[in-house]
Amino acid sequence: MKPLSIELFPGGLIGIRWEDGREDFLPAREVRLACPCAECVDEITGERTLDPAGVPEDVRPLSWEPVGNYAVAFRWSDGHSSGFYHHDLLRRLGDATRRRQG
Ligand SMILES: [Zn+2]
Repeated sequence: MKPLSIELFPGGLIGIRWEDGREDFLPAREVRLACPCAECVDEITGERTLDPAGVPEDVRPLSWEPVGNYAVAFRWSDGHSSGFYHHDLLRRLGDATRRRQG
């Protein structure tokens, strides 16, 4: 499943329209905390090493760009930009947001 469009809203939501017509609105900080890069996750154990306390409550993506045709990279307001968010990861974050909203 691929995103057709990604929109960054000033209020801190990341809107994703998927090729199956689904639209997700992901809370920016949640996406930041799910960063899969080697600075945020131990590559060997898979354990998350990013301390959420060090991530500002109002962290926002400033911009994004596609990585190949499989992932998206965000440039975050806290200066972080090394994470490649595979489309499957973004979709799973969308699933989690939906489950929480019922
Ligand atoms: Zn990271």
